[in-house]
Amino acid sequence: MQHRGQESAGIVSLHQGEHRIHKGLGLVADVFKEPELTELIGRSSIGHVRYSTTGENRLVNAQPMAASLLNGPVAIAHNGNLVNAKPLQRKLKAQGAIFQGTNDTECVLHLISHISSDNFVTSVKSVLPQLEGAFSFVFLSHREMVVARDKYGFRPLVLGKKKNDKGEDSWIAASETCAFDLIGAEYVREIEPGEIFWVDDKGTHSEKWSYPAHSAKCIFEHVYFSRPDSIVFGQSVYESRKAFGRWLAKESSVPADVVIPVPDSGVPAAIGYSVESGIPFEFGIIRNHYIGRTFIQPHQSVRDIGVKIKLNPQTAVLSGKRVIVIDDSLVRGTTSQKIVRLIRQAGAKEIHMRIASPPTVGPCYYGVDTPQKSQLIAANQSLEEIRAFIGADSLAYLSLDGLFAAVGEKPVQNQKKSFCAACFDGDYPTPLYE
Ligand code: AMP
Repeated sequence: MQHRGQESAGIVSLHQGEHRIHKGLGLVADVFKEPELTELIGRSSIGHVRYSTTGENRLVNAQPMAASLLNGPVAIAHNGNLVNAKPLQRKLKAQGAIFQGTNDTECVLHLISHISSDNFVTSVKSVLPQLEGAFSFVFLSHREMVVARDKYGFRPLVLGKKKNDKGEDSWIAASETCAFDLIGAEYVREIEPGEIFWVDDKGTHSEKWSYPAHSAKCIFEHVYFSRPDSIVFGQSVYESRKAFGRWLAKESSVPADVVIPVPDSGVPAAIGYSVESGIPFEFGIIRNHYIGRTFIQPHQSVRDIGVKIKLNPQTAVLSGKRVIVIDDSLVRGTTSQKIVRLIRQAGAKEIHMRIASPPTVGPCYYGVDTPQKSQLIAANQSLEEIRAFIGADSLAYLSLDGLFAAVGEKPVQNQKKSFCAACFDGDYPTPLYE
């Protein structure tokens, strides 16, 4: 799951009723070397990779968060973002709670500590209704592993199983099904919105902790966030992205010689665009997979080298050509601006930027790190102004209708969509709190 977070990584294992914990800042392969893994023995474990949407990138905010409570150790890993974390924190602090970090997940541990039940599942069930927003949780107590999903189903959470050495079923929960492929586990099903599922010595159990609310599956998981080899919300991410590209070609075709993706995230949409338009697909930009994030440099010339080390346009494909460039999304516009400049330098005759999602007009409060409105170019500038800013000859986005049609959403009059697309349409499915 490294693609879902690169700031910190952690694992908590349960061995003979005690937790073993290792967390660190950085990538999984850097945080976990052989000695750390050797220490993490036990029959069950939970892990997390983090990229921060609330709270800074400090070790105290790294997850899983673990605490020692009256009835034993508890650890939690959270995917998503609680929109009522601030009022909850204020209330808990007024009651004397001491917070270590600045992220929303710590609230959940405090809330659990206030419940007097010695049954951990009962405690979790009484805390979940106090939380508003997006959460896919895994908990580890001294007895059980508990998995729960918010009632809207914002973030994905899937269940798999694999036979252990004794031929018994081991249960695995993960954000995405590609995790199961890796370890040879079988994908069983999604954890339902409003479901709590747990595994203990007696086996597996499932209950509804809430009636499902109106479904609000995050459309951005299909646009950008998830890996294309995952099944998310029951649908192939790769197929969705290809369909975004096909719809984009239907909506805003333009005569051109080649269709090229911004790698890697634009690749499936560019294939879809090419198939629909009949314009050949080429890798016009080659991505270097050995470089991390583009480093920030003050001078344009040095910055261009930074982008080029990561994404190098090929003159052989681009020179003298009318080029359609496909990216999955355009947020601040700076990536597109750099890419257009490099493609122009490689000799392209025309550059037509096509974005396989609608204009990003609103921040996400549910766990995707979208910048605030003032930094979202489409929230502040017209299409023509954005085109001029990125320096392309033309610019078009996928329409909202195209986006929903591509994931098979049938428009029904006066009925809300089953996806949350608040970043694209400003329609937030939950109350928002200060
Ligand atoms: P920008 O330069 O802000 O317009 O960034 C757009 C690029 O960032 C696109 O190529 C996307 O693939 C990628 N992107 C979009 N959303 C995110 C996100 N939440 N985190 C990291 N990268 C993103």
